[in-house]
Formats: sequence, C-alpha cells, structure tokens
Amino acid sequence: MGKSPSSRAAATSAPAAGAEPPAPAREPVVVPVVIDAPQYSGLKAALGYLSERPLTPGTLLRVPLGRREVLGVAWDTRSGEDSAVPDGVTLREVAAVFDALPPLPAAWRELVDFAASYYQRSPGEVALAVLPPELRMLSATQLERRLTRLRAKLLPPSGAQGALPAPSAEQAQVLQALAASAGDAPVTLLHGSTGSGKTEIYLREAQRVVEAGRQALVLVPEINLTPQLEERFLARFPGRRVVSLHSGLTPARRLKHWLMVLLGEADLVLGTRLAVFAPLPRLGLVIVDEEHDPSYKQQEGARYSARDLAVVRGRVEGVPVLLGSATPSLESWHNALPATEGGAGRYTRLTMAARIGGGVLPTVRLVDMSRLPKEVLRDSALSPALLGALRERLARGEQSLVLLNRRGYAPVLHCTECGWKSACAHCSAWRVFHKLDRTLRCHHCGLTERVPRACPDCGNADIQPTGRGTERLEEQLALALPGARVGRIDADTTRRSGALEAELSRVHAGEVDVLVGTQMIAKGHDFRRMTLVAAVNPDAALFSSDFRAPERQFSLLMQAAGRAGRAAEQADRAEMWVQTWHPQHALYAALRTHDYAAFAQAQLAERRAAGLPPYTHLALLRADAREQSVAQAWLRVVSDEARELAEQHQVALYPPVPLSVQRVADMERAQLLVESASRPALQRFLTAWDATLRRKRPEQKGLLRWAVDVDPLAI
Ligand code: ADP
Ligand code: ZN
Ligand code: ZN
Repeated sequence: MGKSPSSRAAATSAPAAGAEPPAPAREPVVVPVVIDAPQYSGLKAALGYLSERPLTPGTLLRVPLGRREVLGVAWDTRSGEDSAVPDGVTLREVAAVFDALPPLPAAWRELVDFAASYYQRSPGEVALAVLPPELRMLSATQLERRLTRLRAKLLPPSGAQGALPAPSAEQAQVLQALAASAGDAPVTLLHGSTGSGKTEIYLREAQRVVEAGRQALVLVPEINLTPQLEERFLARFPGRRVVSLHSGLTPARRLKHWLMVLLGEADLVLGTRLAVFAPLPRLGLVIVDEEHDPSYKQQEGARYSARDLAVVRGRVEGVPVLLGSATPSLESWHNALPATEGGAGRYTRLTMAARIGGGVLPTVRLVDMSRLPKEVLRDSALSPALLGALRERLARGEQSLVLLNRRGYAPVLHCTECGWKSACAHCSAWRVFHKLDRTLRCHHCGLTERVPRACPDCGNADIQPTGRGTERLEEQLALALPGARVGRIDADTTRRSGALEAELSRVHAGEVDVLVGTQMIAKGHDFRRMTLVAAVNPDAALFSSDFRAPERQFSLLMQAAGRAGRAAEQADRAEMWVQTWHPQHALYAALRTHDYAAFAQAQLAERRAAGLPPYTHLALLRADAREQSVAQAWLRVVSDEARELAEQHQVALYPPVPLSVQRVADMERAQLLVESASRPALQRFLTAWDATLRRKRPEQKGLLRWAVDVDPLAI
C-alpha cells in the first residue's frame, strides 16, 4: 500500500528503535472517520485514523484508503467500539483537515446515523452520498479559497419583504393553529385542495421562522418545480438569502449553496429530496410540499424517503414539520387520522377545502369509451365529445391540457406479417418508437437504434406502431384541430437545459392552445388560462399489480384537475375529462366528487384487509445476477438461513420472485419480500440478518449485487 504523499503526520509515527522520542511527545489520537465504503467491503462502522490532535466530530477531512485518498467525516465515538484498535493493526494518519469549515452539526450526524441504520446502509455511504460531489475534488487550500471568495461576495440580508396578501378565512385558521402548536414541534398534515393557497401558508410559516432568526427548509418533489417556487420565495423575501439545493445545479453552484447553508448564511433552503440532509445550523421548520410524491423516495444506494426523514429530522431537532398535499399519501393520511377514526393519531390534520377566490374545482366528465363505435377510435385516441370540448376552448381562446403518461410515439412497433415486436435485446421490455429522430429506444437501459426499414425477422416492409405516446398524441391533436397551436412537454422535449422553462413560458404567455404532456405538467404549475384538462388513457392503473397504482393515479388525476380553472373568472367552466373503459370504477367516482377522504377510506380498508402498508411494514431484499436462477438461489439460501430469526422476530419471509421488469441491461433481477406487523421488529430482524447476507454473499457464484429496500414504493 502506498503512503499518501500529502500525509502530514509522518513525523509523529513511531520513532526509530532505540532513539529517544522527540520532545515534546505528541500522542496521536484515534479519530473515527466515516467514508464512502462500498457495501461489499462489509464496513458498517467508522474507521479509525490517527490524528495529531483531537478532531471535533463532524469535521471534514481527507484520509488514505488503499492507494487512494478519500473524503471523510470525523464521526462520533460510540462506547469505545469504533475507536478500539485491534492488535496488529497499523492505523494510518489523517491526510488533511478542512479546518476552514465548521463541523457538520450534531443533529445532521444523528440524522445520517438514523438513516443508515433504518435503511440498512453504512453512515459513511449515506453521509458521502448527500455531500456535494465537488467537495471530493478539492484540497483543503482550494476549499479555503472558495470560502474566502464566497464570504467576500455575501451582502448582508436587508430583511426587505414583498407584499403580503390578506389570508383567506381558511388560511387564517390554519396559520393560527400552526402558531399555537409551534412550540411542541408537531408534525402537521396540511390537506389543502389544489389552489387552496398552501404555498401561501408555506411562505407565511417560513417568514415567521426566519424573522425569529432561524432557517426554513422547504422540500419539493421535482427539480422542475424548484424555479417556480424559488421565484415565489424570492419575490416574497427579496432581502433574504434563498438558496436551492438539487442535483440539477452545476457542481460548483451546488457546493456554493451548500456552503452557504453550512455557514448559516442561508435563510431559506429550497430543494429536492437530497436537501433533507442540508446541514442547517439554525433549523426552525421543515416543509414538505406535495408530500405524497413518489420522487421523495431515493431509488438507489441508500433508498431513503426524504418525506419520512423530514419527520425524523423534525423530531431530532425539535422543530415543526409541515407536510402539504391535496392528495396525501395513505401513510400520512393514516398517521393524521385520529384513533377514533381508525388512524394512528400521530400527526395533526389541518384542512383547506376551498379554492382561493371562491373558485370551484373543475366538473369531472367521464367518457365511456366502451360505447364508442370501433371505427371512431381506429385512427385517434380522442373521442368526438372530447374533441368538441377542445374546439370550444379554442374558439374562446382558452387553453387545454391533455395528459398521457407515456412518452415517445408508440410504445412498441410490430410486424403485420410475422408478429415481430421491437423488443430490447438487453431487457424484458419493448423499445419505444420515437418518430422525430426515427429511433427505437429502450426506456430501461437506454439502448437506441435507428428504426429498421423492414422487419428484421421476415423482411416485411410494413412495420406498424402499436398504441400511442405523447408524440403521436401531439400529431393527432394537430390533425384534428387545424390551426391550433399544440405544444408538448415530456422528458424528451425538455432534455436540453432551459427547454422546460422556455416551453412553460410559452404556455403562460398564451402561445400554446393545447398542451400535451406526461405527469410532468400535471403538478404544481399555475396555468392561468387553462379551462380543460383531459386524461386520455388512465385505465391501466386500475388493474396494475402494484398495490400503490390506484393511489398514485388518483393523486395524478386530482393534481391534473387542479391545473384547470385556477383563475376565478373561468372557474365555473373548468372541466376535467377522463376517457375510460371503466366509468363505474370507484376511483373515478371519488374523482368526480373531488372526494379524497372517501377514496382514502376505501383504499385504507382494502389495505387493511390485504395486510398492506400502512398496516404492515415491508422491506425487499433484491438480488441481481446474469441468470435469474442465480439471483433467486441466493435469496433462497439467505431466506432459509433466516427461518429461526424470522420466527423469533415475528417477521414473514416470502419466496423469491422476479421483478416485474425482470431483466434490465442484461441483468436478471429478483426480490424477496419481508413483512412484519411491527416496524421495530422488522428493523431488528433486518439488522440481525445483515451479517448472514454479508457472510453468504461470496458463496454465491455469479451474484452481482444485492440491496435491501426498506419501505419500498413498489413490490
Ligand atoms: P396551492 O399551493 O394550494 O395550489 P397557491 O398557494 O398556489 O395554492 O394559491 C393559488 C393561487 O391563489 C396563487 O395564485 C396564489 O398567489 C393565490 N393566493 C393564495 N393565497 C392568497 C390570498 N390569501 N389572497 C389572494 N391570493 C392568494
Ligand atoms: Zn416480420
Ligand atoms: Zn433495454
């Protein structure tokens, strides 16, 4: 192992035999350090390193690891175990200390420790995953220079403030309730209809906290929504420092914002899920907007839920947490239901049912597609009635939004002669036809190829698209509505940076009549001229094997409906159209009456009967291998090994099964479900099982990786 050239403690290593120790003798201390050790290294605790002087826990530093030098954080010493030096082990020395930075706060370390233990990862893995990547590139001197530059540029906040609208009656009630309970650091679920003024509540609450000299953390589900919200916060608090934190920032910017947070120079932090780990030294409030959104759950590495960690963070730091949504997650709803209504009674629930300005929610119209003659739907996904409603909007100069949660032109191409389909060679999935650049693209592994001129199997030139995506819908709308300006927003049209903002501002400026898009356009946007929202093919979720699919679909449709009629003068003619083959379905009945509570009650009853969350607690053990049988074999081995342990903890282990998309990028994926009625029991079981997983891993030839997913979103 090479010694790091920058190792500065060389002089304090053991003196040569027989020589007098140099005076004054400096006893190096052992500092526990967490680093980003890969999972297979089996490293769960901190590593000991030697330092010339004691280091405050939370201090950032660089340490040698093998031949490399890596970023680490000095960690807390726990009951001797971390810093105990086993016989015969030579500890290496800390290479550099980032003295110029304040140490990461104790509450931050506690949150990281909690997340690591709860999600079955190492603290180092969690900590390093949420630090700005740029930190790894910098030497202590370079970082010091950045800090000096940053400090020189900071102007003192003026405290100036934008105009405050008078709160509505419901807002006033909510604000009063929040103010009255703030001292108890409660978790509050703000259940407010779309357009009821939830954001205004966030602004007011943030203001209260900032004026008291504390900092507010506001989480939003998607990067797309940060610029919009940032604008509103900046307009309200022109004299305060509002910083954003998300993975869409350039590395330098993200570091700069993060430093402002750590230095206590930011008053307000807006960010996506990783911002739940923003190291705010004077945190006073955590807000989670659209708390039901699945993007709060990290889907790789440490698979944490930022929403759930926000609640933990509130508890750790003794500050209030405000969860807001028009369609709360069933977990949060259950937590906010009083025990008398069968709930857990953990959160306070506050409701704002009315729209600001007295607007009503759009009238929901269901189009029964099963009654339409077949020939009508042969060429178009759009029913004549919906087309008529779109034409009415066009004539009045109003805007419409058409939602289809599938991008591309068609989800699959097929040969009319031999039945060939555009399968991906590396995944168990079809490749999607994108007409614009005439490619077939796999949305799982990214494999992209030109569309073949003829069927690769039989040479037939007639290969046809099956089904439709947003690209095809855009084409059909343009055909059916001559003269209409049709726009499209989805992951394909917004890849280029700035493209989304540009298209959105076209919509806001009234340069688009009909906007087609995926769920990206359903959330959050405050469109002022939109009076019609249509979902053209929302049925799939009704029969999905994913138990959360109805919940997600309902909230997506409610959110989408919320885009119509936001300006009061148009609210009376705002409509939500749903094309469905199952108009009798309970989901649509609840949508019709905008009755989230009824929908939630029915769903919770089903979940309870089926033994699903929030009434049980789940974890998945996932395994990847080149062959499905290998992945499943390992899961079976570790499951067999855990029989007794599972029984002892009253945890149920289910047989291994392939994932619904079984193969991605030539990787076969399998999983095993772990279920328990008790969260602590599940935790204890997983922690105890971990040793078995690590021990058995090398014994399974061909196993490529494994991971535990606690509270998985999909099973
Ligand atoms: P939500 O976040 O619940 O969808 P918003 O906070 O975006 O609702 O409010 C909807 C619209 O009403 C916004 O345009 C907002 O500026 C406006 N608004 C909110 N509260 C008030 C108020 N008290 N007085 C006037 N307008 C308000
Ligand atoms: Zn063919
Ligand atoms: Zn693929």
